[in-house]
Amino acid sequence: MDGPLLTRVALIGIGLIGSSLARAMRQDGLAEHIAICTRRDSTLAEARDLGLGDSYTTDPREAVHGANLVMICAPLGAYAAIAERIGDALMPGCVVSDVGSTKTSVIRDLSPYVPDGCHLVPGHPVAGTEHSGPAAGFAELFRDRWCILTPPPGTAPEAVGLVRELWQRVGMSVETMDPEHHDKVLGITSHLPHLIAYTIVGTACALQGDIQKEVVKYSAGGFRDFTRIAASDPVMWRDIFLNNKEAVLEMLQRFTEDLTALQRAIRWGEGDVLHQHFEKTREIRRDVVEMHQAGKFIYTENGAERS
Ligand code: NAP
Repeated sequence: MDGPLLTRVALIGIGLIGSSLARAMRQDGLAEHIAICTRRDSTLAEARDLGLGDSYTTDPREAVHGANLVMICAPLGAYAAIAERIGDALMPGCVVSDVGSTKTSVIRDLSPYVPDGCHLVPGHPVAGTEHSGPAAGFAELFRDRWCILTPPPGTAPEAVGLVRELWQRVGMSVETMDPEHHDKVLGITSHLPHLIAYTIVGTACALQGDIQKEVVKYSAGGFRDFTRIAASDPVMWRDIFLNNKEAVLEMLQRFTEDLTALQRAIRWGEGDVLHQHFEKTREIRRDVVEMHQAGKFIYTENGAERS
């Protein structure tokens, strides 16, 4: 479908995700006006230099003025304060959405401030890299990835349809889900793996002397992938763990039990237990590849390209 989908969209937060969305919307002419808002003057200047929008402000009330879609692209810990600030400046009929990595907390933090006559459609584009800031974004980030929407029961279908169409037009497949279910699924597929990476890299870091030097030198063997994940933005990930506490702790408990079982198999020389386990995990990898979710990003001097 051609032509602008939105008259005015306000992006609150213009880091990796916000700037990638701005670029994709610009590339495909999806909005007549993109209003960009961020907290710091320096980040705003960077967004302006990159030409990401049509207007720029550090005042979220100014950004949302007259917007038919507000997309919050800031760290989760900033949501409640942003919502409180913009709530009574929203235009009647405005759709408020977001890109946050947890969804129960987003509904908790945003819904008290979305006035009657406006619509809340939380979303999570499941796409990203370990880089942050406006310069890290690229228009292709969302292509062939999933976006999960978690509209509260009774949300106007046209509002859900608008957000769905936006993500589809930047290349995503869209599903709707219950927010608690989203948080459990992402708890195991994204949040726990990050916690494991942060832990293992921290453990290696705490090693003393020669061993620590050799960890870096021989990091090509598996450890390198963990260091990439553990380089992800500290603010964003702090907020994810604090805002998906229950699901992460539940998944961590399951993980710890399974780790103990493997530890036991190694201790008692139970090769068949290890072998059977690794066979099963290899099948999962095959499924991931078959579902085209195993893409990698290659970084070049001109930005990122999908392999
Ligand atoms: P990012 O690159 O660190 O960018 C965050 C942006 O939010 C920056 O522009 C920052 O600007 C701004 N910001 C911070 N506090 C703010 C506030 N109080 N008001 C307005 N703007 C504020 O982060 P990101 O990776 O784009 O992540 C943004 C959201 O996307 C997070 O909620 C995250 O959970 C979600 N997400 C991330 C990924 C990923 O892989 N990165 C994937 C899917 C979803 P200043 O410099 O001005 O502070």
